[in-house]
Amino acid sequence: MDFSPSREWREINARYRLESSMCERCGRIYYPPRDLCPVCRRKSIGAMKTITLPRRGEIVTYSVIHAAPLKGFEGRTPYIVAIVDLGGVRIQTLLTDCEPDEIEIGDEVEAVFRRIREDGERGVIHYGTIFRPVRMPKTSVHAH
Ligand SMILES: [Zn+2]
Repeated sequence: MDFSPSREWREINARYRLESSMCERCGRIYYPPRDLCPVCRRKSIGAMKTITLPRRGEIVTYSVIHAAPLKGFEGRTPYIVAIVDLGGVRIQTLLTDCEPDEIEIGDEVEAVFRRIREDGERGVIHYGTIFRPVRMPKTSVHAH
């Protein structure tokens, strides 16, 4: 096979599908996926199994970041960094389409695929999966 998708593209694809890897030895789940379980440190074929996380989960905790936006970060400030529980797997993510006073711990959120930030100097646009509340805000949300 000649076709070999770039690492970047494979990563985008994996992020879009919320792929993670589960260590078949200890059962730990990693998101983003890893080739090697840092706990078991045994790299062998089939040691890590790809699993797809559910696209809905709930907010475990969150913090509101009032600092200046990350360089190239497309969103507005303040932005919200949350730990989201996806069927027992906790991941750290950004929340979008909501204001800090519209969310609470335990709220249901769903995955959306968005442009996360732009590297202005190189013109590289980074995409990723972030989360938004399932309950839509009262104000209309512009598309993308
Ligand atoms: Zn392991």
